[in-house]
Amino acid sequence: MATNYDPSEIEPRWQARWEADGLYHADIDPSMPKHYALTMLPYPSGDLHIGHWYIMTPSDARARWLRMNGYNVMFPIGFDAFGLPAENAAISRNIHPKIWTYANIERMRTQLRSMGTMFDWRREAISSDPSYYKWTQWFFKKLFEQGLAYRKLAAVDYCPKDNTTLAREQVVGEDRVCERCGTPVIKKELEQWFFRTTKYADELLHYPGIDWPDRIRLLQTNWIGRSEGASVVFPISPPVEDGGVAIEVFTTRPDTLWGATFMVLAPEHPLVEQLTTPEQHPAVAAYVAETIRQTDIQREATDKEKTGVFTGGYAVNPVNGERIPVWIADYVLMTYGTGAIMAVPAHDPRDFEFARKYGLEVRPVIQPEGVELDGEAMTEAYPHTGEMVNSGPFDGTPATEDKGMKNPAVRAVTEWLEENGAGRADVNYRLRDWTISRQRYWGAPIPMVLCKTCGWNPVPDEDLPVLLPDDIEWLPTGESPLKLHPTWKNTICPICDEPAEKETDTLDTFMCSSWYHLRYLSPDYEEGPFRQDDYDYWMPVDSYTGGVEHATMHLIYTRFFHKALRDMGLVEGHEPMLQLRNQGHILGPDGNRMSKSKGNVIDPDEQVSRYGADTVRAYLMFGYRWSEGGPWNTENIQGPVRWLRRVWDLFTSPPPDVEPNDEAVRALRRKVHQTLAQVTQSFETYQFNTIISGLMELLNVMVELGEAGAAGSTAWDEALDVYLRMLAPAAPHIAEELWTNALGKPYSVHQQPWPEVDEDAAREDVVVMPVQVNGKLRDRIELPAGFTQAEAEAAALASETVQRFVDGKPPKKVIVVPGKLVNIVV
Ligand SMILES: [Zn+2]
Ligand SMILES: [Zn+2]
Repeated sequence: MATNYDPSEIEPRWQARWEADGLYHADIDPSMPKHYALTMLPYPSGDLHIGHWYIMTPSDARARWLRMNGYNVMFPIGFDAFGLPAENAAISRNIHPKIWTYANIERMRTQLRSMGTMFDWRREAISSDPSYYKWTQWFFKKLFEQGLAYRKLAAVDYCPKDNTTLAREQVVGEDRVCERCGTPVIKKELEQWFFRTTKYADELLHYPGIDWPDRIRLLQTNWIGRSEGASVVFPISPPVEDGGVAIEVFTTRPDTLWGATFMVLAPEHPLVEQLTTPEQHPAVAAYVAETIRQTDIQREATDKEKTGVFTGGYAVNPVNGERIPVWIADYVLMTYGTGAIMAVPAHDPRDFEFARKYGLEVRPVIQPEGVELDGEAMTEAYPHTGEMVNSGPFDGTPATEDKGMKNPAVRAVTEWLEENGAGRADVNYRLRDWTISRQRYWGAPIPMVLCKTCGWNPVPDEDLPVLLPDDIEWLPTGESPLKLHPTWKNTICPICDEPAEKETDTLDTFMCSSWYHLRYLSPDYEEGPFRQDDYDYWMPVDSYTGGVEHATMHLIYTRFFHKALRDMGLVEGHEPMLQLRNQGHILGPDGNRMSKSKGNVIDPDEQVSRYGADTVRAYLMFGYRWSEGGPWNTENIQGPVRWLRRVWDLFTSPPPDVEPNDEAVRALRRKVHQTLAQVTQSFETYQFNTIISGLMELLNVMVELGEAGAAGSTAWDEALDVYLRMLAPAAPHIAEELWTNALGKPYSVHQQPWPEVDEDAAREDVVVMPVQVNGKLRDRIELPAGFTQAEAEAAALASETVQRFVDGKPPKKVIVVPGKLVNIVV
């Protein structure tokens, strides 16, 4: 075997062997406990970057560790291959998105293999393969059949550069720019397909029996934004002729209804047209036109001066029959609640500001204790607790800090509203239904057909997949390229057999990634998205790793998807993924996010050719708290570089020829088993940095104790054996090479069991004993394990503290209670 550590020779050789032997194939084996280890699938952007390594290689190490612990571990990989970047790259380079995508996948497969991961490549799933998106379309149909997919005209966020609608999550930052290209987003009215995610809003707030980070739960909880209150109906006054027209509002404070002195509608509210009087029409129309150009964030900014226009129309406050004016103002958003509010200026800061500006009445209806609020004199709203006043039958009811029906004032008024048919207890969510239509080419076609007679109907199962055409112009026009294809959309209505048109929008790629963990189960299965046997054995996912940035997108969508499929009887359990852990980010050496424009990108291929995959893996585990990440450090990688070279040297050099020494042997076993206990614990808890530091420290101790007389002993052989087993998950290639070729042990180290901690060997040799003088605790002394009575007596009497208390007097008696204490009687 080679004398120098040469990863460029060792690593490809073992990778080829493992693959040829199918070493990491995971198949159903009912005799073994299973573990489904899932890591988020990459987007085939062209090159694997260091971020992929940072999520995947520690995840791989842990999957390998679980395998050594007796689990049948499935660790699959695939590609989230549809989406905008392919289409944009295609436009800028004039390459077909499909060619671009599959060329990238081929390149990334090679790079993924260079990591030395235990991916079971037989299970690879690519979301842009027709054999995959057939089932994405099939799931769409299932959701449609359940009423969970529906179509509506909606103002959508639209990126004028990418010419596509964006999900709310894809609009980022204060300036509301497109997540992909940074262009400010505009609003556009379009007929869209939606998934009814809000149906599961309440359930998504709970995490029954699953181990997900608090941070993710909090992000999701805030995103879902549940608030309790009441829906209240304000009839329009005078009643519009066809009758029944009313403005519905949601309020968390129905107890302040008597203080509602006006109403405000979002300028886009559908009733604005009807309410506006001819005199007010020009002012209203001008205000609406101006508002539509603004973004929601601009509109909601608290420091923005409130503006609005009176519609000339009135509504009736249902609690007291008062006619109150209806205004429009841009601080009310169509995307929250019903797009209309009752304004209670005495108790809401924004309404207060608005009322003062336009001279509207401020009427206090919650009185704090010991103060009399005067609506005309108030200089700011009073949004706090107190008791109800000016509220007819409810005067004196306490309004507490409690939310919803737990608040006595809210409860009393809500019950009154229900009894009088003016409203009901209600819950509002910030969460919106999921817009899934995209006016782009490179996505799964939505499997729906529009017939003039029969309306929208799904494509029959036997006609799935609805294939993307290859001959396409993908130049950006604002329309779906599929719509512009001369023939693609022409089809036959599945109901009446007359000519009809296919939906030309494609599915949001988050739909593809909502179920990829299911396709890994049975990637070649043609009768369904997955085989039932595979599902029953492998699901749910036992551990899931990936970025926290997916908290309010993928990680909500996949949970929604699972719950919807559960209710159709297609899957079991309430949650798809039992445990989730998020890694941090690796930044450029300058501490900034890596980007080509900053010139701070660390290319993993370059690092691998310089140091080897094992070193890069070890550095990524060693250099950071995995959940936090940090800047790449060119000097710090030298630690793992030196470490693996020293490991190589220790295992490939003859052991030092030394006199055997029992103490060194005992110390060696102790350190080996202490390290094993610590490394085991660190794998359990995803503390990858302490795995590597523990192994580094053990190496130092082994070198030292080997020379001190442990080399050549059976304990020495044990140490070498245990060391390589512990090294195998983190640095799989060097561990295999040293295991099979240096130690000559049977291939493969990756099929060995994880060693067991010998607790006796791990125990510290030192015992701490309390020492009493005349029954009073005076000191603690350290004694070697297995000490004699004489040793304990001598050590106790030698303690300086004890000598002070004994004060030179000869001890009458020294009592040694082994393992308990030493008592000196003077
Ligand atoms: Zn964009
Ligand atoms: Zn028809």
